[in-house]
Amino acid sequence: MTAADTETQQFQAAHDRVLVCVAWPYANGPFHVGHVSGVYLPADVFARFERMRGADVLMVSGSDCHGTPITIRAEREGVPPVEIIDRYQASFLHTFDQLGIEFDLFTKTYTENHYAVTQDVFLRLLEKGYLYRDRMTGSYSETQGRFLPDRYVEGICPNCGYARARGDQCDNCGTLLDPEQLGSPYSVLDGSPITFRETEHVFLDLGKLEPDLRAWLDGADREYWRNNTVSFTRNWLREGLHGRAITRDLDWGVPVPLPDEVFKDKRIYVWFDAVIGYLSASKEWAATAGDPQAWRRWWDATDPAAAQARSYYFLGKDNIPFHTIIWPAMLIGYGGLNLPYDVPAAEFMNLEGEQMSTSRNWAVWLPDIEDRYQPDALRYYLMAIAPETRDSNWSWSDFVTRINSELVATWGNLVNRVLSFTYRNFDGRVPEPGDLTELDRALLAERDAAFARVTDLIAGAHLRDGLKEALALAAAVNRYLDETAPWKALKSDRAAAGRALWTAIQVIDTLKVLTTPYLPFAAERLHALLGFEPGDEQQGTWSGRGHQGGIAIPATARWAIGEVPPGQTLRQPEPLFTKLDPTLAGEELARLRRESVSA
Ligand SMILES: [Zn+2]
Repeated sequence: MTAADTETQQFQAAHDRVLVCVAWPYANGPFHVGHVSGVYLPADVFARFERMRGADVLMVSGSDCHGTPITIRAEREGVPPVEIIDRYQASFLHTFDQLGIEFDLFTKTYTENHYAVTQDVFLRLLEKGYLYRDRMTGSYSETQGRFLPDRYVEGICPNCGYARARGDQCDNCGTLLDPEQLGSPYSVLDGSPITFRETEHVFLDLGKLEPDLRAWLDGADREYWRNNTVSFTRNWLREGLHGRAITRDLDWGVPVPLPDEVFKDKRIYVWFDAVIGYLSASKEWAATAGDPQAWRRWWDATDPAAAQARSYYFLGKDNIPFHTIIWPAMLIGYGGLNLPYDVPAAEFMNLEGEQMSTSRNWAVWLPDIEDRYQPDALRYYLMAIAPETRDSNWSWSDFVTRINSELVATWGNLVNRVLSFTYRNFDGRVPEPGDLTELDRALLAERDAAFARVTDLIAGAHLRDGLKEALALAAAVNRYLDETAPWKALKSDRAAAGRALWTAIQVIDTLKVLTTPYLPFAAERLHALLGFEPGDEQQGTWSGRGHQGGIAIPATARWAIGEVPPGQTLRQPEPLFTKLDPTLAGEELARLRRESVSA
């Protein structure tokens, strides 16, 4: 890639608007490594990359406060739902802070703003004829004398025969369900059998929206969507779309904005309000930033510039139909708002070869590890094994091996070796390149090619491969140093040693850029070790801020190949990463087994 190409890309990127929407976690428990590896960290890596390219990025999410997972937990503990929400909202924010996952806004659905935006969407859809009232049968608990939400009901999956399918979805095969489809349904509260009674609800008329939805889906080449996103969507559409109830017999959630008595004891169903969170959070961010209309920059399809904004939805595969069918249908019905551009959905992550399980406590919880390991070590492993295209597996022995052999040996030691040797033998300054040899030029060409490849991979949300490419470039520098051996050349040919070190330092500087989205803490330190000042005009500032109201961005952090000028004074080198004691793997595994409960 020539400098001119880079300039052109930067120019285009500067006009890009990118909305990064991240699935709303239920505030009913802390994050485990599968959540972070599949959803939150990839979103952060992607958003950092787009910010570095100069795009106008908004990244939002928040706690889903209305799901029955919250009320089930609250009932079990005998506390109000708000107490559960506050506890896990704080837990989420702590994890994000520890791992350097930076949202423009991570809010929650239990806010006045979200209630107002949800009710506005409801009323607009009603006004435009996309909602209708109908009677349906509800799951009724005779022992408790009340209707139960779908998640309080379990039974046998009609599709795969899984014995503990939930009333809304089978966790085993992913099929979305109604409680009535389950075999032998029972209440999760007391195990008593469920009966079904008539109750009135409001429905979203998906059938009416289907032609427009299909036109949108077929109207563009979706080849860039991940396979799982495409196949989950196709499977759902194959059966045709039917009306779906968007209210429930519940007392916890967004009130139904209808005057009728009959809806006084009903609430808007959580799946309907949670997806609206992307819009309400964008509005909340704008209001907080002091520019209440600013959300339109990413949403307003009637504004030509805003209509070009690309919105990405990072989520787990069990959430795909809500984001490729239901949410787009709601947006089409509402009108004037941008539809999703891409829905990079994650597969599942296993743990030590077995399915993770909250009930068995077979999971690695972030609050248990986030204070004990370097954030970049966790980020490295979580991205290296991210379940992007197939299910992946967290293993403690693999964790230790890959941190030590890849992050520390291939990347960290390369930096430390080159910078320490240069610092000691060249007066703490970057040497002069002199006349480059074939070998030096070959490495720089390899660097340029790798830069272009990583750019394409991250832009296409192939984040795991992007990291792999970056590491491969680091390995290429190690091979180059084996061949040029500046440590040996120093005495016989000081100019040759200087030339090799200059070349290696240039590629290390590019690797700093390429790894910034993945390893932001180490990249920031490396930037300083290379002798750059925070706020350096040429390199951009590391402590600068993004668009107004936005978050701190390490803005080196321009996504471009830079130069470390000869003569630049380095800072006293120090290792970027800590090598892990190999016995850690056994200790962590023992702890995991000790704390898990047998099924
Ligand atoms: Zn099933």
